[in-house]
Amino acid sequence: MKGRITKLIGGLYTIKANGEHFERKARGKFRHTNESPKVGDIVDFDDNFIMKIYARKNELIRPPVANVDQVLLVFSACEPDISFSLLDRFISLITFNDIDIVLVVTKMDLLNDEQKELLKESLRYYETLFPIIYTKSISDHNFKNLEIFKDKISVLAGQSGVGKSTLLNAISGRNILTQPISKSLGRGKHTTRHSELMEVEEGLVADTAGFSSLDFIDMDEVNLAQSFEDFFELSHECKFRGCLHINEPKCNVKANVGSLIPQSRYDNYVQFMEEVKGRRRY
Ligand code: ZN
Repeated sequence: MKGRITKLIGGLYTIKANGEHFERKARGKFRHTNESPKVGDIVDFDDNFIMKIYARKNELIRPPVANVDQVLLVFSACEPDISFSLLDRFISLITFNDIDIVLVVTKMDLLNDEQKELLKESLRYYETLFPIIYTKSISDHNFKNLEIFKDKISVLAGQSGVGKSTLLNAISGRNILTQPISKSLGRGKHTTRHSELMEVEEGLVADTAGFSSLDFIDMDEVNLAQSFEDFFELSHECKFRGCLHINEPKCNVKANVGSLIPQSRYDNYVQFMEEVKGRRRY
């Protein structure tokens, strides 16, 4: 039978197929390859074992989820303030992994009207890239009946302190402990391999608060340039094919910085490009 893995606890997988749930272990051969089934995988299984993992469209390491459709990128309106460097970094990496983005801005109730307007103005450009949801109060996220989860696998991401755990609890209606396992406890008795996709509004949502930071370990300069999709669209008018929008003459991206493209986003791009180049030297 064919189905999707929705849960993994201590080596036992739960697979959803035809509206029913089945519990199976992975077939022995997976232990001898690098491949092991992950939550989110589409698999074939028999009466005892998972037999085959279908090709993944993407996979995340932390949380360990395959075939992710969208990331709910959680930033808070204040405490901490939105870091546009971190925002651009997340956007780049998520786009590189072929995953859609929904930006959720929490703690809007802590701003006065003027601050709210300023914040929305600073995010106006990003509204052209993906949907943005502003949440009024930490306890009333009002995510019920939203269509955003339907038929998708979603993962939450954002730095700590932005309200990911609260948001996850509001979405799921459960009280999930999302404190990271401390390193001193890890690598031994306390490391329970547990990951789960919760069924929420006809979709699946990872039950961990997701990643809080990311780097560009697998990206080269071209990947980075393409992961800025808004730049990539403008790049068709750059003079040079393969323009990276740094020092090239007659660059259509640079021509639009400060008008169409926010200066801060371009500055972040230049900084990320330095990071990627720096890594390749070693
Ligand atoms: Zn260019």
